[in-house]
Amino acid sequence: MATVTLDTLRKEFDNGRIVAVDDVSLDVADGEFVTVVGPSGCGKSTTLRMIAGLESPTSGSIRIGGEDVTDLHARDRDVAMVFQNYALYPHKTVRENMAFGLRMSTDLSKAERREKVDETAEMMGIEELLDDTPGELSGGQKQRVALGRAIVREPDVFLFDEPLSNLDAKLRTTMRTEIQRLQDELGVTSIYVTHDQEEAMTMGDRLAILDGGELQQTGRPKDVYERP
Ligand code: ADP
Ligand code: ADP
Repeated sequence: MATVTLDTLRKEFDNGRIVAVDDVSLDVADGEFVTVVGPSGCGKSTTLRMIAGLESPTSGSIRIGGEDVTDLHARDRDVAMVFQNYALYPHKTVRENMAFGLRMSTDLSKAERREKVDETAEMMGIEELLDDTPGELSGGQKQRVALGRAIVREPDVFLFDEPLSNLDAKLRTTMRTEIQRLQDELGVTSIYVTHDQEEAMTMGDRLAILDGGELQQTGRPKDVYERP
């Protein structure tokens, strides 16, 4: 587990013509679940990608567990990201997809890796799918695999980029409950991005509202939405 601290984090594109993230400062506590909500194009994805190390900030800093990771490569950060489009390797099996992240980030033996993947697959209810390839899976199953791949690494921080947007309404409800169960069980610091206000209301300990790249306010869901 770890804190995440964003200090005047900024990202410009096109030589400053686009300010995607406009000096955002945010403290996420150890084990806290923060949901970042805002309309499409408000900078949610860019913020997450900077925390993950997939995009470099124009200015400002990012600390994880007190360590300044602003200039660290993605693979040297103890974060796992879950994407809207799952981002699974199509030609690898579910087992290989899940083991891939492990190989990058730990020095476990082959047998230990196998055991970890088995344990996590069971936790996610995908143990029957381990030999399948992503093309054989439904959207909900793919997202379970993507969650499993993130969990198996036991990261300090989970980053969720609209993970449920491509699922139908019923599956979204199921997976919301699932993600909350995982959060309760694992207690990992989590930042969850969505444009869906209803989702934002029901997920997370705290909401952060982003608009035009700026952080408008943060607070408990109930307090944020009850204000006029
Ligand atoms: P959101 O995730 O909230 O939909 P994004 O972070 O994807 O928002 O995008 C924020 C803004 O930055 C948008 O105006 C988007 O078009 C722009 N943007 C994002 N990535 C790039 C990029 N690689 N090049 C230029 N503009 C970008
Ligand atoms: P999201 O809102 O989830 O980021 P998008 O479809 O907006 O999804 O962005 C997908 C990818 O395209 C991201 O890597 C983002 O950085 C990039 N992107 C978004 N807007 C632009 C843009 N105006 N110019 C170039 N790349 C962009």
